[in-house]
Amino acid sequence: MKKAEFTIPAGIDVNLDMEIKHILSDKRILRMLKRNPGLEKHIENNPFVFKQWLQSSKDCSECPGLWACSNSPKGYVDSIELNGNYVSTVLKECRYKTSENSELSHRSRYLICDLSEKELRYDINNIDISGEESEYIDVYMLVKDWIRHQPKKGLYLYGSFGVGKTYLAACITNRLARQGQKVAFANIPQFFANARNSIAADFNNPDARDYLDTQINRLKRADVAVLDDIGAENTTNWVRDDILLPVLEYRCSNEKRTLFTSNLDFEQLETKLAYSQNGQKDEIKAGRIMSRIKALAIEVEVNGPDRR
Ligand code: ADP
Ligand code: MG
Repeated sequence: MKKAEFTIPAGIDVNLDMEIKHILSDKRILRMLKRNPGLEKHIENNPFVFKQWLQSSKDCSECPGLWACSNSPKGYVDSIELNGNYVSTVLKECRYKTSENSELSHRSRYLICDLSEKELRYDINNIDISGEESEYIDVYMLVKDWIRHQPKKGLYLYGSFGVGKTYLAACITNRLARQGQKVAFANIPQFFANARNSIAADFNNPDARDYLDTQINRLKRADVAVLDDIGAENTTNWVRDDILLPVLEYRCSNEKRTLFTSNLDFEQLETKLAYSQNGQKDEIKAGRIMSRIKALAIEVEVNGPDRR
């Protein structure tokens, strides 16, 4: 078979040399060379990979944050990857995306997570107490102490709308999730509404029952659970007696740390629980639930302005 013969056009070496010089003088390449001087030989061997990279990727060195990113997908950059003598470009997370992902990596420890991304970032150490009233500082110290010692008895944080109860409770689950514990943060009105909806849609649908059973089991079994905004839900006998009571009973008898937030103090919650939506009154059942809540948590008032 006849060998293929290539004729290198005159001047190509000169052009290639110029191309390499041009690449080596680029400020992004100079920064890379500073970190990795051995890169020069790869540029000499694969100038077109680098040329293509310089043309197609943006210089992100001055980027102030993910919010300013216009890359698609956001937070991803084309990076040069070296593998032996082989050079290629791959799509990689930028430094902001990596830091965002690691800030939210504890999300995988949430068995139930009714927290937004913003709330998943709440951290007790980021609370600035310098301008706070002493009453808030006392609660803040109590929460901080609770996180440090994690006593068996949880906290029942109550107070008016917007004072920061959910914020403090999320600081607790976020911290414990980062420590590796399985946590649950359930917004109770939403949890009960979902429960009712899943069953109301089709009472005989095994998937709906499975979904509900799974959610209830998660709330029962999480190492630490927050029942957020308890008392704000529409109470029906069913959610009170067939969901709330068994969850609390299980957590009580298994000594599982449980926290609550509410707009109501213990006494007001008991009254609320005694009345179901259809106006029926059942003080005994409400009392049964309250005795579990009191066994699980101490009542702590959160005072202050509405921060919304
Ligand atoms: P509550 O659960 O008591 O109704 P939230 O915890 O939802 O109130 O807080 C209301 C708003 O105030 C939220 O937007 C939250 O981010 C903000 N907030 C609460 N506590 C603090 C705090 N210590 N520092 C800064 N912002 C806070
Ligand atoms: Mg709240």
